[in-house]
Amino acid sequence: MSMHKVDFEMVEMTLDVMKYAIGRLTHPAPELGKPKNEAELRDLVGETITPLGIGGEKAFNLFKDVLIKATVPIDHPRHLAFVPASPTKAAVMFDLVTSASSIHGAYWMEGAGGIFCENEAMKWLVSLTGLPKGAFGVFTSGGTAANLSAMVTAREYWRKDPNNRGKKGIIITSSGAHSSVKAMAKVIDCDVLLVETEEEMTSEALKEKIEGLDPQERQRLFAVVATGGTTNAGIIDDLWGIGALCQEKHLWFHVDAAYGGGALASKTARPLFKGLEKADSITIDPHKWLFSPYDCGAVLYREPELAKEAHSQEGSYLEIFNDEGARGFNPSDYQIQLTRRVRGLPLWFSLAMHGTDKYSWAVDRGIELANLAGELITKNPLVELVREPSLSCVLFRRIGWSAQDYTDWTYKNHREGFALVTPTKFKVQGNYETVARFCFINPATTENDISMILASME
Ligand SMILES: *Cc1c(COP(=O)(O)O)cnc(C)c1O
Repeated sequence: MSMHKVDFEMVEMTLDVMKYAIGRLTHPAPELGKPKNEAELRDLVGETITPLGIGGEKAFNLFKDVLIKATVPIDHPRHLAFVPASPTKAAVMFDLVTSASSIHGAYWMEGAGGIFCENEAMKWLVSLTGLPKGAFGVFTSGGTAANLSAMVTAREYWRKDPNNRGKKGIIITSSGAHSSVKAMAKVIDCDVLLVETEEEMTSEALKEKIEGLDPQERQRLFAVVATGGTTNAGIIDDLWGIGALCQEKHLWFHVDAAYGGGALASKTARPLFKGLEKADSITIDPHKWLFSPYDCGAVLYREPELAKEAHSQEGSYLEIFNDEGARGFNPSDYQIQLTRRVRGLPLWFSLAMHGTDKYSWAVDRGIELANLAGELITKNPLVELVREPSLSCVLFRRIGWSAQDYTDWTYKNHREGFALVTPTKFKVQGNYETVARFCFINPATTENDISMILASME
């Protein structure tokens, strides 16, 4: 195999990849792929990992012709399930640049220029929260890692008190909190107590829960996790009241705003988060409502030094990073991951290119679409709102439908490549009911898209 041949193949491959990326980015309506099972996919593509390789052209063709068609593009305008996404073209292009640049994002010594950019984007995020001077944060792989990083910081802070060493901690959150809070509590081996809620967690309900603890449990309680926009319904807890209560009771106040945090970019929605500025830590996922490609979460701290005490890693081969010349912001000191991609870089580029006003506009559009859907639902006799739209979430029922009807409807729309809209469960007057749910992120979704989806329920 001559070098010449290798280079030629590389040029071809590079052109193919760039052509594909440009084609995907400029295509107005990416195909909504249908699910296939593993055996079907294997039959279609055969063995791809072989001693000699199958060649870039063949591998790429299999990806383009078969595999990508078994995926759902998260930015499809009629993908309104779970929390969709809609990365800007600028951010996606810069994701390619981030990869091509091969930057190690753990330490300033190696990654200064890239980390500088991430930190510029972070400054903007911090400014939206109202956290005081000195507050700062770091980009993580997502909301789960951000919640974990914050919970570890809170726990380590609590255990600084010799009375708490060796004790198993307790966290209080609400039944509306995201599953990752409970999952990450397992990772740090602490117990979770739930405040049962149908709407927001109030400070009164939290107070009752705290005062109902026995003295031993009260000693073990170290943090409260409130939600800044539940994933299911966009409900924001009483951050003001909960924040004040946490201050009074000397509890760490974490706000999980992985989904809802994007709404801070909206000048009209921001006041809904009053009290967020009291938080000790906050999770916001730019890969949800701030138009970044996967994966990009963020954890923000009121006092970043406390995160550093909890997370900074020591090791003989890492000692060089303590040298004067390496002084600077080391992202690895503030969250659980050491080697990391500078995953805030695509957000930085897109923010720098478009300006923050464009972000406010795009987030406002998501909220506007939710309100528009609310109006269309109210006018349509076949459906009714379960509750008023909140942030960009809309819960509604198709009158007369069973849980199975919702499932059949979801799969039919998906099979036909028309839309991905999934049902959810919501507690209404004490009972869980299966209902339909929209979550709007993509500003390219139209009123017509919503009308067509509602028409598919006839
Ligand atoms: C999505 C979400 C998470 C988890 O974030 P990932 O990025 O999926 O890890 C946590 N909390 C809330 C409120 C979320 O909406």
